[in-house]
Amino acid sequence: MVSNRPSTPPNLANKKPHHDEKSPASTPLRVWDLTVAYQRTPVLWDVAFHVEPGSLVAIVGPNGAGKSTLLRAILNLIPRTSGKIQVFGDEFAAQRRRVGYVPQRESVDWDFPVSVLDVVTMGLYREIGWLWPVRKKHRARAMEALNQVGIADLAHRQISHLSGGQQQRTFLARALAQDADLYLMDEPLAAVDAATELAIIQQLRAMKQQGKTCVVIHHDLQTVPEYFDDVLLLNMRVVASGPVSEVFTPENLQKTYGGRLTLLDEVSSAMRRQEKLL
Ligand code: ADP
Repeated sequence: MVSNRPSTPPNLANKKPHHDEKSPASTPLRVWDLTVAYQRTPVLWDVAFHVEPGSLVAIVGPNGAGKSTLLRAILNLIPRTSGKIQVFGDEFAAQRRRVGYVPQRESVDWDFPVSVLDVVTMGLYREIGWLWPVRKKHRARAMEALNQVGIADLAHRQISHLSGGQQQRTFLARALAQDADLYLMDEPLAAVDAATELAIIQQLRAMKQQGKTCVVIHHDLQTVPEYFDDVLLLNMRVVASGPVSEVFTPENLQKTYGGRLTLLDEVSSAMRRQEKLL
């Protein structure tokens, strides 16, 4: 695993991929030298790490650290300036079916007039096909997933009438129904009630038992050692990544949370210098 890269002056124009390595098919996710910029401002810089099969991995870092951007880059939803990403030793596009995504709850219009069961079944459209009717077996799978997260009784409720915890369980059920091997989850435990948190953690543990891998953006530092095997400390760069017992140290947390302003100032002034030179 990669940790503490030396500080390099940002130079987007000169960034070239320099990796011909291949990740083994058993490795759920490997990222090399990933840089992502929005309007020429880098938000992820030379990010490199890999994820072990069957592990529960927390992505931790302050607001604006690039955590959601990292998940979106892995899912090919945003372009990258440089870097390489492999999912099960392959391009994401080739392994798409094996990847489940749980987006941030706030990113969705919960007033949309559909039922909980509809939302979970929609997660299966890649398999069903947009033009095909939803079959009994798909509904049964969606119901089973709702059962797993403890909200089968809400299947026919409109999603606008759900609590935050119920919304999050709906999302998790949708991901479960997809039966993926790698799950990327954007803050599934943010602002949920204690019962939902427990239900979600139990579900993550059950998924791990089945050999599935979950990469989870997580805000509550206190529960990281209890819930996760590995952690990726991110603040635009990877501060450290690896087993919680080794890398989740006060020093690394200080580097992740304490250095943010300095780091961003450094990068912004270097970008301005770069712009002047061009
Ligand atoms: P985190 O998930 O760690 O809070 P994000 O990945 O959401 O961080 O954001 C990282 C940085 O990128 C932030 O400074 C944010 O303002 C910026 N950002 C995120 N999305 C966009 C976008 N679509 N366009 C421009 N800037 C963005």
